[in-house]
Amino acid sequence: MLCDECRQADASAHLSLFRDGWEVHHFCERCAREFLASSNDPQIAGLRWQLYGMQTEGFVNMRVRILRIEGETFIVRVIKSSHFATDSELTFRRGLVADEAWHVGVELNFTCTLDEMKALIASA
Ligand SMILES: [Zn+2]
Repeated sequence: MLCDECRQADASAHLSLFRDGWEVHHFCERCAREFLASSNDPQIAGLRWQLYGMQTEGFVNMRVRILRIEGETFIVRVIKSSHFATDSELTFRRGLVADEAWHVGVELNFTCTLDEMKALIASA
């Protein structure tokens, strides 16, 4: 498959973004980097971090696993994060977690602003 952008190189990066629906982009490595550098949309900031480890100022990136669900809050263990120590446990409000991901053991990747993160963390 050829890159959507340059139509010359092989597409090796397949990026899914949710906008009005799911969009899938097929890029070569060079075009993927240019695309991911092009915007500070939270999803793009998240992909930059997941794929290249590039942290964007003002965003929190996390990969976590749900350990327990308690009412409308859930406790997660941090697998990898730009702001929290690996293996630390955090309690979040249910917030934006979709029903199908609302299960113990599910891994979640998310990116949000610092203010959104403060609103998601349930007070201890
Ligand atoms: Zn390309």
